[in-house]
Amino acid sequence: MLGPPGAGKGTQAAMLADKFGVAHVSTGDILRAAVAAETEVGLRAKAYMDAGNLIPDDVMLEVIRERLSQPDAKAGFVLDGFPRTVVQANALLDLLLEAGTPIERVVLIEVPDEAIIERIESRLSCPTCGRVYSMKTRKPQFDHVCDVDNTPLVRRSDESEDVVRKRLDVYREQTMPVVEFYADRGLLRRIDGIGEVAEVTDRIAAEIA
Ligand code: AMP
Repeated sequence: MLGPPGAGKGTQAAMLADKFGVAHVSTGDILRAAVAAETEVGLRAKAYMDAGNLIPDDVMLEVIRERLSQPDAKAGFVLDGFPRTVVQANALLDLLLEAGTPIERVVLIEVPDEAIIERIESRLSCPTCGRVYSMKTRKPQFDHVCDVDNTPLVRRSDESEDVVRKRLDVYREQTMPVVEFYADRGLLRRIDGIGEVAEVTDRIAAEIA
């Protein structure tokens, strides 16, 4: 699942993983959990994340290798937030070739920058399960607590307007070449990310069926 920050990758990846009964692998969620647990990776990652920069490729490759070796990934997975650089995309190709489970589809969720900035201003997330809410369009059932686990919702530390604009620049510079990488290989499907969550899910499901 590719797309700029705030495009709805996490939400859509979770819906699809559920629909197809496969694992949802979000490198952002893995990193946020590592930061919260103050692991070695978390301690290294925090400053990059807070500034809107990418974590170095060698660290990310280790993270993804470890995650995809878990038993729940054996039956397939939706990758969300990885790869974000061409180095990562090439390494993933090799890794999955070795495992005999090549990528079947790449979904790019497209949302214009101004809509992203607007969305992010109303966005709160669950620090426990990673679920994302919009105080405008996808409110939690009870004020400011997660529907799934009742954890108080928070604004992510990388979701101020300045940091989001930085993340958009990083996306354009480092991740757009990944979009081309998959387009060249005939795997890319472009999805309009504007609309209700369920509408976007239907568009994706229609493209990958
Ligand atoms: P996300 O939740 O996917 O928007 O990721 C949040 C932050 O985690 C990003 O802004 C990066 O700092 C870091 N991150 C997540 N995935 C990657 C990746 N594949 N490569 C480098 N950094 C990443």
